[in-house]
Parts: sequence; structure tokens; C-alpha cells
Amino acid sequence: MIPAAYAVLDLNAAAHNLEKVRSFAPDAKIMAVIKANGYGHGLLRIAKALHDVDAFAVARVDEGIRLRKAGVTNRIAVLEGFTCAEELDELLSHQLDAVVHCFTQLEIIADRTGPAQIAVWLKLDTGMNRLGFKAHEFDEVYRRLSNCPIIRQPINLMTHLANADDLSDDVTVSQINLFNATVAALPGPRSIANSAGILGWQQALTDWVRPGIMLYGISPFPDSTGEQLGLKPIMSLHSRLIAVKPIEKGDKVGYAGTWVCDTSTTLGIVAIGYGDGYPRYAKIGTPVLVNGKRVPLVGRVSMDMITVDLGSQTDAKPGDAVTLWGEGLAVEEIARWAETIPYTLVCGVTQRVQIVEAASL
Ligand SMILES: *Cc1c(COP(=O)(O)O)cnc(C)c1O
Repeated sequence: MIPAAYAVLDLNAAAHNLEKVRSFAPDAKIMAVIKANGYGHGLLRIAKALHDVDAFAVARVDEGIRLRKAGVTNRIAVLEGFTCAEELDELLSHQLDAVVHCFTQLEIIADRTGPAQIAVWLKLDTGMNRLGFKAHEFDEVYRRLSNCPIIRQPINLMTHLANADDLSDDVTVSQINLFNATVAALPGPRSIANSAGILGWQQALTDWVRPGIMLYGISPFPDSTGEQLGLKPIMSLHSRLIAVKPIEKGDKVGYAGTWVCDTSTTLGIVAIGYGDGYPRYAKIGTPVLVNGKRVPLVGRVSMDMITVDLGSQTDAKPGDAVTLWGEGLAVEEIARWAETIPYTLVCGVTQRVQIVEAASL
């Protein structure tokens, strides 16, 4: 029995989206970003679906260890690196690559003697002001790192783009130029581009690309959908009607009565809410598919339920199929209605939602 709320994952779409990355960056190696439980799609499931990539990237050490324990043998980079000697031990023993971005890490590495070695991604901060060394520190850091016995050569060089999803913002060009100028005399593979960099900025395509969101079939840009970019969404989110009832003019719906009925209509109650990861701030009017047809959300999203105005769909009944996002209703569109980005929607799907792999349907 499928529970009320479930997400269908079409894992064949992952291979399609990976091909799309290859078509945009045919000469680059691919580091598939699968942090945060594979953007909510399942860490191991996505690692399996993308098994032939050159490397995976995760954010944290424990995510890398989970992959190793599951038998993943691809190269794995840990984007936040390590913060203490114990974490460096874990990276060494599980053969995980570390991003090196601050002086504390440099000191921990310098204190260590072999024989085990670690591959590193030395990160330049080109303007995001999150992780990374500043350009004026970079040569010195590179030199110190090169002299550490546990560092495997060559040292990889990377930066991260802060606003690549805005194709009109010159800051991306400045970031790329600063990176290229800073690493010009240094050997080692380079990496700049996230999904928006891959799709929007030819100049960002270097030795390695780091696609995340596009692998899941979702657009990194605010004004397009994955489908418009030739990608195939992996995830769709579904539930069903659990009640259908008439409502009269003047009746209020949901907590705080934020929606007032202005002509009598039929309401549908859907078994999905913020307890499943449906966005609490989805506005009144957010489209929902009931039996494949669009109807508007009315009232507030509650923990376990939402309410829709079935309007002309008077034949709808409890048990009927509801899609919150999926074919015919892009997750990017829902994100706009909820004033968020699609990343948060797919990452936010909770434990309660049963995952169904499309092949098993
Ligand atoms: C998350 C992340 C990516 C992937 O970003 P997308 O926008 O999902 O493609 C790439 N590089 C770094 C350093 C990241 O943190």
C-alpha cells in the first residue's frame, strides 16, 4: 500500500541529466554534487544512479563515510573539509578528498606525517566570502601545502561562484578572472562551475565541473524550468484527496481564516503539509494538480493537510490523485509561489514521505 504522501523518483532521468552536463562541458571531468542526502533524493540512491561520474562531492565528512561504507569507490570530495585532527583522520582512512579553505586546516595538515596521503582541493575565495583563502594569501598557502608530506600532488584548485544564476551580473566574470589570474602560475586541475556556471558561463568551464541541481533535472535559474533547459526532473511529489465538501460564501478556511470564500464552491482537503516538506509559505493561489487539472491552494498550509478550491471539478472525490509538483507542474513554479528556490523544496521532503522509484511502479 502506498501511503497518502509519496515522492516518485525517476532515476533514468539522472542519467539523462548527466548526459546534458557532458554536452555542455564535453572536455571537463564531472564531480556530481550529492550533498544533503542527494538534494533530498537519497544519497546512496543518487550515487548509484550516477555511478560513472569522475567524482562525487558531499558537504560533510559523515556523508562521505556513508558513501564509502556503502561500497562507493569513486573519488569523493568533502566540500567543507575538516575542522579538527580527528576529522582529518576520517578523511585519510576513508580516502576522501578534502577542500582546504582556512588556516586552521593548514596547521592540522602541517602537524601530520605520512605515510597516508590525502588529495586536496585548495579553495580561493573570489568574492563569495564564505569559504576560501583570499587571493593575496594564495601563493603562500599553496607553497606551505605543497611542503606537507601528507598532501598528494597535484593540488587541485577551486573557487565557487556567488551569483552565476543571474546572467546579467558581471560579478561572475570578475570571479572567474580573479581565479584565473591567481592560479595562473600554479600547476594542478582547476574547478569553478556549479550548474549555473555550466549552463550559463562558458568561461567557467575548466578541468572539473561541479553540477548539483541540474543533475536532479531542476533549473538553477530563477526564470526557467529544468524542462525548458532540456533536463528531466527526477522527483515528483504526490498525495490524494481525503475529503471533499461544499463551502458557502463568507466561510473561512484553515488556521487564522486567511482565505474567505466569496462564492460558494467545493473544497478538497489534501493529505500533505509542511510536515511532509510542502512549503509552509506557499501563497493562496499556488497551483495544485487534482486529477491532472490545476486548482488553487486556499488558506494556510498546515502540518498534515492543505486545502484547495476544486471549483468546477465537482466530481472529485476522496482518494483522487493529487500532484504537488511533477509533470505539468514544475517544482520551480511552486518555489516562486512560496518565495523560495526549488533547492529547498526537494531538500525539504521529510522522512514521512514514502519514496517510490519509478521503475518499480
Ligand atoms: C552545492 C555546491 C555546488 C553545486 O551547486 P548547484 O547550484 O546545485 O549546481 C557546487 N560547488 C559547491 C562548492 C557547492 O557547495
